Amino acid sequence: MGRLRRSRAHHARRDIHRASRTRVRTRDLDQIQLIDLDPKNRQVLEAQPIDFETPGLAQHYCVECAKYYETDSALQSHWRSKVHKRRLKQLKEPAYTIEEAERAAGLGRDHRRATRVEGPSDVMVEA
Ligand SMILES: [Zn+2]
Repeated sequence: MGRLRRSRAHHARRDIHRASRTRVRTRDLDQIQLIDLDPKNRQVLEAQPIDFETPGLAQHYCVECAKYYETDSALQSHWRSKVHKRRLKQLKEPAYTIEEAERAAGLGRDHRRATRVEGPSDVMVEA
């Protein structure tokens, strides 16, 4: 009977996947909503200096999707695409804030007040 399982078969493989995930990661929706869509910031993003490291020399940038395009026609067709329209719809919804996250976790002030009112046993002990 040979070896059933080779040890270290996936040695360091995980880190490659993590690296590629990090590389393709773009800006988060709330960052775009609160920072990039500001008219002043938008102007800066749309008129970037020529950068040889980015696709299309950083001259064709979609602010909403935080993505560079090679040519002007590629950007134009992207604006008509489903991906871009879906993104516009997502950006219309309010950003997920820290306050909302805390309220969901029960850390918010209004949540604590609600539990005190709801629990009659606590009131009985206090009285
Ligand atoms: Zn777009």
